[in-house]
Amino acid sequence: MPSVTSVKATNREEERVSNTDQGFAIVVHGGAGEPLDYADGCERAARRGHAQCIETGDALDAAIAAVMVFEEDERFNAGTGSVLCLDGATIEMDASIMDTRGRLGAVAGVRDVRNPILLARAVADTPHVLLAGEGADRLARALGLEQARPISAAQRKKHEQLLKELAGSVPVMPGINNRMFERFWNYKTPLQLPKSAAHDTVGAVVRGADGHFAVAGSTGGSAPSLLGRVGDTALMGSGFYAGPLGAIAATGVGEHIVRHMLARTVYGYLEQGQSLRQALQRRIDLIDKDVDTGLIGVTKTEAASCSNTHMPTAIIEK
Ligand code: ASP
Repeated sequence: MPSVTSVKATNREEERVSNTDQGFAIVVHGGAGEPLDYADGCERAARRGHAQCIETGDALDAAIAAVMVFEEDERFNAGTGSVLCLDGATIEMDASIMDTRGRLGAVAGVRDVRNPILLARAVADTPHVLLAGEGADRLARALGLEQARPISAAQRKKHEQLLKELAGSVPVMPGINNRMFERFWNYKTPLQLPKSAAHDTVGAVVRGADGHFAVAGSTGGSAPSLLGRVGDTALMGSGFYAGPLGAIAATGVGEHIVRHMLARTVYGYLEQGQSLRQALQRRIDLIDKDVDTGLIGVTKTEAASCSNTHMPTAIIEK
C-alpha cells in the first residue's frame, strides 16, 4: 500500500486525496491570446516543474518552480516581464498558490518583488490567505525576497503598444469603452494617454506522483487597468482552485473570469462526474467568443488545456 510522504499539514481534504498510482503530470500555460511560439518557454517551465517534483516529491514545489521559470522570462506578463500600469511607471502583480495539503496563499497588487509566486507561497505560512499592496511588499522585505528589477526596455515597449491601442476605437478590454479609463483615472500623475490589452498570466497545475494536486499562478495583471485593480489570479475559485479531484487554473480577462468563478465552476463539473476535457470545454463554450479565455487542469486520470484563442501550453505526464 503506497503512503503519502512529506506531509506538512493535515486537513480533511488531504485525507480524501490519498494516493493514486496515476503518476506525475504537469500542465502549464503562458496566457490566453499569447503567441504559440512562446511554447518553448512553456516547455522549459514544465520540465523545471517535473525536475523539482523528482527532487522534493511535492506537487506544490513543482508548480512554483514552473511558474518561476515564466517569471524570469520577459516575454510573459509575470515577474520580470510584468506589464506597466497605465501611468507607465507602476507595476502591480498578483500571484497565488493552492494545494491538497491545505496550503493556500495569494498576494495582490505587489510592486517590489522579483518572484511574486514565492511571496504567495510565503503567505500560506502566515495566519492569512491573501495579502495586498504595501503589507505584502513589506512581508517580502521581511523575508529577504529579492526585489523587482528596474523596468526594462521590453516592458516599456509593451506599454507603448498598449497606449496606442487604447487610443483607438476598438475596446482593449472586451465590453469596456476605452474612455472609461480616462473617466476613472486614479493615478497620482496626470493622464497622458498618447495612445494593447495584455494578458499572458502564467500558471501551472500539477498532479504529484503521490496523488496530491497543486496550482500556482502569477501575473502582472491585465492591461489597461486602474491603479489598485486586482484580478482573478489572486482570487481563489476564480483564477485557481485545487481539491481532491484535481487542480484548475484560468487565464484571460480577470473581470470576466471572476464573474464566472471559472476555476471553481470547472471543478464543480468534475464533482458532477464529467471528465476534465468535457469540463474545460463546457466552461469555455459558455464564454463570449470575444473574451480570450483559457483553462488548464489535472485530475487523477487526465491532464489537459482548453481555450477559445491561441494559448501556449506544455504538458508532461509520466
Ligand atoms: N487573468 C489575468 C488578469 O486579469 C490576466 C491573464 O490571464 O492574462 O489579471
